[in-house]
Amino acid sequence: MNFNYSMPTKIISGKDCIRNNSAVFSKFGKKALIVTGRKSAVLNGSKADVLFALEEEGMECVVFNKVMSNPTIACTYEGAKVARESNVDFIIAIGGGSPIDAAKGIAILAVQEVNEEDLFSGQYKEEVLPIVAVPTTAGTGSEVTQYSILTNDKLETKTSIATPLIFPKVAFLDPKYMLELSITNTINTTVDALSHAVEGMLSVRANLISDALALTSISMIMNALNKLVEAKEMDKLSLLDLSLRETLLEASTLAGMVIAQTGTTVVHAMGYSLTYFKGIDHGRANGLLLGTYLTFVKKEKPDLVGRILKEMQLESISEFEECMSSLFGAKEEITEEEIKLYSKKAITTKNIPNSQVAPNEEELREMFMSVFSL
Ligand code: NAP
Ligand code: FE
Repeated sequence: MNFNYSMPTKIISGKDCIRNNSAVFSKFGKKALIVTGRKSAVLNGSKADVLFALEEEGMECVVFNKVMSNPTIACTYEGAKVARESNVDFIIAIGGGSPIDAAKGIAILAVQEVNEEDLFSGQYKEEVLPIVAVPTTAGTGSEVTQYSILTNDKLETKTSIATPLIFPKVAFLDPKYMLELSITNTINTTVDALSHAVEGMLSVRANLISDALALTSISMIMNALNKLVEAKEMDKLSLLDLSLRETLLEASTLAGMVIAQTGTTVVHAMGYSLTYFKGIDHGRANGLLLGTYLTFVKKEKPDLVGRILKEMQLESISEFEECMSSLFGAKEEITEEEIKLYSKKAITTKNIPNSQVAPNEEELREMFMSVFSL
């Protein structure tokens, strides 16, 4: 098999890993821009740990805490302005995928002039600010990917900046930050990670190493799903303890390492419209669509789907769909007109030719219809 493999992010994992490794920050300069969402980094203790480590090293920082979920292009430019004005040496991104993705855009825009029209061109100068990532959800894997996914109002979808320049230099994985992440957010983000691992195997760029990572991630997540269903049914967050959080975080990072090699496929392409137009959470959107796409792939590649189901310890795709519906409950309502629009948008994405089994626009429509029972 011909393939290349490279994953430049150093991973430091374990409870209290930031406080125990403060010297890591000092390698990147004297002053950091900390990029976070509005509240969670304060509530879950991650920001306090970073501030502690910076103080230990005698370093300064400025905070940009305005990143919303599904970050906008405008928010990224705003963060870059703060980075420039404060003359920071590097960026510490703390949060879910949204702050980490915004931080990646900021890392470019803080040191280069890039117009909005060229932001997704993939053509940048070599110079970007180094990024240290602290994930506080276990889903996107953004701490180990070269993607920054931003809400693009001009194209009415989400668009990625993809360049190896924005791989975080270091990712700190501490599961304790996730202990208070709500059951719904935990389910959504876990299924995003599962979708990355599965889609990675369905990508034209799947290779020996990405498949090995994906299979391990799939197995870890599927073994944890029963606990998530139980926590949801009993409405008991304490069931999701530190050891389970650690498993989910590690599995999510493995799945991030998968998509760093393979990219995502049809499921993410379809899901972006559900998020953009209907406000459906990113991971939930993937979870609603994954079963249908597996059914579509199975017609041409039954062995590939069989391999995935085997790792999931499931007999059939319907069993997988039952599992998703016990996590997600009733689906949103969507009209035929909306589906037409979403299919038209999905067919133009790079994810379609990146899929081993690529649908046409009509087939995308049929998949949407079957998910939303139209
Ligand atoms: P998110 O949008 O980053 O965060 C969702 C919510 O969870 C926010 O309200 C956030 O609050 C809260 N939160 C975060 N960590 C928490 C914690 N430890 N405890 C309690 N609440 C917490 O969600 P996400 O699913 O992680 O990221 C989704 C984004 O990532 C999407 O834009 C998606 O497109 C992108 N994505 C990127 C990649 C990639 O490779 N780059 C891959 C897949 C998806 P605050 O706002 O207060 O922080
Ligand atoms: Fe995703």
